[in-house]
Amino acid sequence: TPPSQIRNFCIIAHIDHGKSTLADRMLQITGVVSDRDMRAQYLDRMDIERERGITIKSQAVRMPWSADGDTFALNMIDTPGHVDFTYEVSRSLAACEGAILLVDAAQGIEAQTLANLYLALENDLHIIPVLNKIDLPAADPDRFAKELADLIGGKPEDVLRVSGKTGVGVEELLDRIVQDIPAPVGDADAPARAMIFDSVYDAYRGVVTYVRMVDGSLSPRERIQMMSTHANHELLEIGVSSPEPIPSKGLGVGEVGYLITGVKDVRQSKVGDTVTSSRGGATEALAGYTDPKPMVFSGIYPIDGSDYAELREALDKLKLSDASLQYEPETSVALGFGFRCGFLGLLHLEIITERLSREFGLDLITTAPSVIYEVTTDTGETVTVTNPSEYPDGRVASVAEPMVKTAILLPKDYVGTVMELCQSRRGSLLGMEYFSEERVELRYRMPLGEIVFDFFDHLKSKTQGYASLDYEPDGQQEADLVKVDVLLQGDKVDAFSAIVHRDKAYAYGTLMTERLRKLIPRQNFEVPIQAAIGARIIARETIRALRKDVLAKCYGGDISRKRKLLEKQKEGKKRMKMVGRVEVPQEAFIAALSGD
Ligand code: GDP
Ligand code: MG
Repeated sequence: TPPSQIRNFCIIAHIDHGKSTLADRMLQITGVVSDRDMRAQYLDRMDIERERGITIKSQAVRMPWSADGDTFALNMIDTPGHVDFTYEVSRSLAACEGAILLVDAAQGIEAQTLANLYLALENDLHIIPVLNKIDLPAADPDRFAKELADLIGGKPEDVLRVSGKTGVGVEELLDRIVQDIPAPVGDADAPARAMIFDSVYDAYRGVVTYVRMVDGSLSPRERIQMMSTHANHELLEIGVSSPEPIPSKGLGVGEVGYLITGVKDVRQSKVGDTVTSSRGGATEALAGYTDPKPMVFSGIYPIDGSDYAELREALDKLKLSDASLQYEPETSVALGFGFRCGFLGLLHLEIITERLSREFGLDLITTAPSVIYEVTTDTGETVTVTNPSEYPDGRVASVAEPMVKTAILLPKDYVGTVMELCQSRRGSLLGMEYFSEERVELRYRMPLGEIVFDFFDHLKSKTQGYASLDYEPDGQQEADLVKVDVLLQGDKVDAFSAIVHRDKAYAYGTLMTERLRKLIPRQNFEVPIQAAIGARIIARETIRALRKDVLAKCYGGDISRKRKLLEKQKEGKKRMKMVGRVEVPQEAFIAALSGD
């Protein structure tokens, strides 16, 4: 297809505003999926995506559309909508010339609409504003058309009105894509350069790499090179998705398609990297490539220690399809053998733990998420701490923590409550802006560590679900942080150590010691539970001694009952962990960590 007849676009929307439904309708109206094969959310392939209604992995589909007597190839690139995956979103956007800004006509603009719009504008995309769900009785398109027009600087009449559900307005939208979005430009005679915007692991075909051709062309059987690693591969197959893969004779300037080289690990085909020909290839890679860095760390342990090998295997498998997942073995006194894992953010953590339990049937315990602290010691050395147990106790000169800029969108009635919440999380107000009479954007600079600690849950409950949140990294900042340890009869329980602000150390210490007192059964001796900063005790609870003699209850006679009791006690022992002399049921650790 000549570039003049190609249009590359994506749909940007807040979660639930109807991106997947609209995509489905487009597939149906352009005829690439027959009515018979249509099922809801055709493109959301992973089960977990469909169930939770979120798009995690992007995909590209080519659709034919006739306008002005010509047939055009419309390439729709589906982008992940969540903040954890900003880098992947930015690469998907970089593969397009235009974006549909899709907004629910009953909800209006939300935080992720804005975050993704800004990314689209940074990539110089042409924006087509669209209100969706106009079939809803609660839709207020006049009001939100004005809101959208004000936001992107246009006229309310130019905002399209559609329903992804009924299909109303979708043909007009396809025509607008052809009219308004610029055709791709590139140098057909230059050495090949293709940008990878997604790579997906497929159990049967190995890694499927999605690319946007920028210059030159690629054809099957030629040798290609990944420019970041200089690794060479044979191009076994090249083609377009429509939406099932269709092999082709090659891809030229402006085209979007997939490559298969037989590699088995998405790390060999990295999002953002440039693909070129091995012979006579390009010398300069396309701009914008970086390695995504994990921001949030957590320990993952099997509840049953004998599942450790299975957990390792499961992580190895997930890594094949998720280049940003990191992990290394770690041991904990309280929890045994497990892995320290690094994630792009909280949703990423949730997705991975959910997949581990759902796809691999593992029962897991996850320690409280931690961020990356830069600790400078008294000898001037810098230590990176992603696990409180690595904290260089007693040698700390200063600590810096990662900061984020947050944007919170909310109805104006909740401004007071949310400001209080942000202040209690050490936020500093950057600005406040009214989007309409009803809707306000609050911007705060906050420590990421405060956000990973159930901030989102509090935000939702304090605003009855009406607030939406987006954040982006904003450097490191020094803070008065301390490590709080929890001790059982003088022995540290590593899984409960936390790095917190000095002002919150006492609250954390009291909370954990109280929880543990309620959860740990009495022993034959008195057990002090303490919280400490270094050698200084900041909170204390005591479990009183108990003389436990199960057999005392059976007066002589009943032998079988006696045996049963002994066996029961033995079983109980198996799930006990020893901390020093103290026996703690593993359930107590789990309950204390999950806060139940
Ligand atoms: P996404 O998160 O942006 O991909 O949103 P989905 O396409 O999954 O849609 C979210 C919810 O809105 C689903 O329950 C859809 O059935 C519903 N929905 C999507 N589009 C429309 C529409 O045009 N009208 C109505 N009434 N509901 C819609
Ligand atoms: Mg979706």
